[in-house]
Amino acid sequence: MRSAFIQSRLLLSRGAINAVSLRIEDKPAMFSMRRNGMADGGEAANRQEFFASLGFDESSVVRGEQVHGDTISLADSAITFSGTDGLLTRQRNLLLTISVADCVPVLIFDSRQKIAAAVHSGWKGTTKNIVGKTADFLLHELNSQPEDVVAFIGPSAGECCYEVGEDVARKFDDAYKSGTSKQGKYKLDLKHAIESQLSEKGIPSDNIEISDHCTICDPRFHSYRRDGDASGRMLAAIAIK
Ligand SMILES: [Zn+2]
Repeated sequence: MRSAFIQSRLLLSRGAINAVSLRIEDKPAMFSMRRNGMADGGEAANRQEFFASLGFDESSVVRGEQVHGDTISLADSAITFSGTDGLLTRQRNLLLTISVADCVPVLIFDSRQKIAAAVHSGWKGTTKNIVGKTADFLLHELNSQPEDVVAFIGPSAGECCYEVGEDVARKFDDAYKSGTSKQGKYKLDLKHAIESQLSEKGIPSDNIEISDHCTICDPRFHSYRRDGDASGRMLAAIAIK
């Protein structure tokens, strides 16, 4: 059977359970993980299957009601945080999950102290430096050492396809955008903007894995840009083994 998710080899090598679910055409709702109070097109079963394949069930899942903000929450139990885009835990039996379809899922792991983090960083969260703030929390509140911290910048809108207008582009350093102001359109490279936010905190480049998958042009992923309101959602998940 084809795998229903991809994983970071770097995180696996450091002992972190991790996965990003895929869009699979012959599964119900194309294996979308979207939570929806109404009309369940198979998403609940998909979530169950995804969690089970990682050795978990819904009762161990931590999530945040994502708002493109920079709030970070430390979980001691399975819980849904309101208004939270960054999750951390030191508990072994919890699965941290981030819901995405083009926004960047960032999974972070302190392999010495066994601390896991999952962050939702779209362009708004990236301008708020939520990933850098999560690194700060690890380094300054939880006493992580930069060399022990590894990160996976997951499948998301790639610079090949991710077009933004002047208003968004001006919030980013020239190094992470291409295009001309004549057209008023720019291609944004969020993944490398996020990489720099980790590097600024002293995390070595060898400790950062960047997915080269673009969710917009690769049909194995759900994409809001490509499919609009009909788009499903993927889950990025991390847990301490
Ligand atoms: Zn692309």
